[in-house]
Amino acid sequence: MTSKCVLCQQLIIHEFRPWEIFIGKQIDQEYLCPRCFQEFQAINQPYCPTCGRLGSFQQCQDCQYWQAQGYRGFYHQALFTYNPAMHDYFKRYKRYGDYRLRLAFQPYLKQKLRKLEPPFIFVPSSQNHWQRRLFDPVMGLFEGIVPLTPALIKLATDRSQAQKNRQERLQTPQFFNFNPQFQTILQAPRITILDDIYTTGRTIFHAIDCLRQTGYRGQIQSFSLVR
Ligand SMILES: [Zn+2]
Ligand SMILES: [Zn+2]
Repeated sequence: MTSKCVLCQQLIIHEFRPWEIFIGKQIDQEYLCPRCFQEFQAINQPYCPTCGRLGSFQQCQDCQYWQAQGYRGFYHQALFTYNPAMHDYFKRYKRYGDYRLRLAFQPYLKQKLRKLEPPFIFVPSSQNHWQRRLFDPVMGLFEGIVPLTPALIKLATDRSQAQKNRQERLQTPQFFNFNPQFQTILQAPRITILDDIYTTGRTIFHAIDCLRQTGYRGQIQSFSLVR
């Protein structure tokens, strides 16, 4: 099947990619041409065993921080690092609101999410972001790949996490509410939380806290496109 690259509009001619050797399977539909794709950096060993951060087999500083805060037994996975190409991608996708770009990583997300368990709840945008952008970027990334449960409600915050420095991010108070309409997911033995970018972990740990405060006692794992 021929298609155009969502980033540069070049016609995509299929060539065998290192990624396919890595996952042992050919990708059925591609949205990135080989030239654009090679600008992204997939997370390969060595990486942090707890959150997937590239660089070392040792637990990273962020994970040590969260453990010191009393969090145990969390497990996060991610596919790509936040490199300059990824920065540009999110600028076009989220800041300029180019909705077609939601498809760019779909084949890779499909492969990965097949191995994770439902229910899948995603980290939503707040209402004011929704209104400005007219779509939810995290929902856009994962929609059509796995069934999504909108169990978290994002409360309005003064600034988005992306506009804050590390210390400010970590200190941001809880910004999620649980949507009681989705009470039944609390019976599941495991819940998977999905996000676009894992930076300090603040967002994921607020999501975990929100589920725990609602009474959820099962296992929670999380996944993001980027770490
Ligand atoms: Zn391209
Ligand atoms: Zn880590």
